[in-house]
Amino acid sequence: MLRKLKATGVSMGNKRRGRERLENCVSCGRMMPRDKAVQFSKRKHYTTDLKEDNITYTDFVDSYYCISCAKHRGIFEIKKRQAQQKRERGAYG
Ligand SMILES: [Zn+2]
Repeated sequence: MLRKLKATGVSMGNKRRGRERLENCVSCGRMMPRDKAVQFSKRKHYTTDLKEDNITYTDFVDSYYCISCAKHRGIFEIKKRQAQQKRERGAYG
């Protein structure tokens, strides 16, 4: 049974069973459960843009996309590529 649940992508780690938290799609605003949404972390740079004493700060911003927007923006392909790179890095050390 657990295997079947895993195949659907439904997480049972949350203690609030039966109903997953809802998330908004970043691009179209559609509401969907968190385990159905596609999570994508983007790197964001903050700079003060000063000639002297310039401070740069990098942060990862998590955003959720609905299935159709993720497909349209090619996020599945990016995630696939990232997973492949991670796997290769793991193989070589
Ligand atoms: Zn959307």
